[in-house]
Amino acid sequence: MNYSEVQLNRLQELGTPLASISQSFETIEERNISFQKLEQQIVINLKKRLEDFVANERRPRILKLEENISALLRSQGFIQVHTPTILAKNRLEKMGITADTAMFDQVFWIDNKKCLRPMLAPHLYEYMVDLGKLLPRPLRLFEIGTCYRKETSGTKHANEFTMLNLVEMGLPEDTDFLARLKELGSTILAEAGISSWSMPLENSTVYGDAHDFIDENGLELASSAIGPLDMDANWRVTENWIGIGFGLERLVMSASHDDNLAKAGRSISYLDGIRLHL
Ligand code: ATP
Ligand code: MG
Repeated sequence: MNYSEVQLNRLQELGTPLASISQSFETIEERNISFQKLEQQIVINLKKRLEDFVANERRPRILKLEENISALLRSQGFIQVHTPTILAKNRLEKMGITADTAMFDQVFWIDNKKCLRPMLAPHLYEYMVDLGKLLPRPLRLFEIGTCYRKETSGTKHANEFTMLNLVEMGLPEDTDFLARLKELGSTILAEAGISSWSMPLENSTVYGDAHDFIDENGLELASSAIGPLDMDANWRVTENWIGIGFGLERLVMSASHDDNLAKAGRSISYLDGIRLHL
């Protein structure tokens, strides 16, 4: 027999990947002794991690990653912008996200004209136009901020998550856009500590054919796009551009080989992935 349902729940609650604890026991007593030992060991390890966290980093990894990536991008000429988390419905429509699309059903509405942004792209488009009038090319921009989506599936999605969206507009026409996307993606992934990744072609409902960045387990880390796209006309963007949107929780999850995005994201049950209800 394996651990009981209650025991497995407790182990899962402590953040142990269930795949790693499949056991077989001859008797209930043998099973219970093993469970107690395992539980104690896990609690000791978590307390050690907490001590180490308090002595050293004192903040969740995702915040450190956000700071490191921001500094890195600024050092490479990218301008950081900070836009509202509330998004007007008409800007969502300009992204092609209308009532007949899947993304529309994922939107959290505040009232009939405003929602919580499911992505950073609409406000970045505004900056591409307005800053584009004032600054030379290529124009390099990025934002890191919370996005909101109604999601049904559990371990790789959260209703609120942190997006990094970067964009380069007005590159020389002879640029190898795909190679540049790959270079930028690789810079961010290296900063996150992820060395094993690939970039197959995916079809996105919002961006058409888009290259995703995926990790060695097939987890989507980012999606990218190469413009001009049809919707650019809605924003009065007329130049070439490339953009990538990363989920920072996914980066943390992948880099730390976690099985659950909840440990990386905003939480009141975990502190830097350390379960608090011990
Ligand atoms: P998925 O197919 O995994 O649901 P997506 O293709 O809908 O993701 P995009 O719109 O491409 O997501 O968003 C860019 C990135 O933001 C994704 O590659 C992923 O890293 C991250 N992301 C998207 N939705 C979520 C979510 N609900 N929770 C955490 N991260 C997310
Ligand atoms: Mg995607």
